Amino acid sequence: MQSHEQFIAGNRPGHIMLFQHENATSLPDDASKVAKNAAEGKMIIQPAVMARDLIDKVLVPNISQFTELSQKRQGNIEPYLTSGDCPEANSNHDEDHIIEQLFAFVQPKHNSLGGIYADGDVMHAYARCSCQVHYSDRWVIASK
Ligand SMILES: [Zn+2]
Repeated sequence: MQSHEQFIAGNRPGHIMLFQHENATSLPDDASKVAKNAAEGKMIIQPAVMARDLIDKVLVPNISQFTELSQKRQGNIEPYLTSGDCPEANSNHDEDHIIEQLFAFVQPKHNSLGGIYADGDVMHAYARCSCQVHYSDRWVIASK
């Protein structure tokens, strides 16, 4: 899990990450080949230029729709990037809410953008819950 630790610490610039829970449908063969075992699932951490097409194929829906949908809802995602608190969880006590898929990348510190982007490298995390709600979270690396 060394690459995972490095990614969440912001030490893998230009990389993107996919986490897929074991309860979700299994990964296609080409994704399985590069995936590593993670807590309760599989994880791919690779340079975006190499992995974008692969992750685009695995995410439901594709990367751009996944991030767009997720940006509409805020929810807490754990810094370890394999679990979170679904914004629907409080209203549906009878359901389990686990992250089935998660996509994440780090945006390097950018002073002219201001706000949290001037404070440090920012982790962007997008998730799809088992209840099919998409949500997102972002934080300055090491601040959470
Ligand atoms: Zn949920």
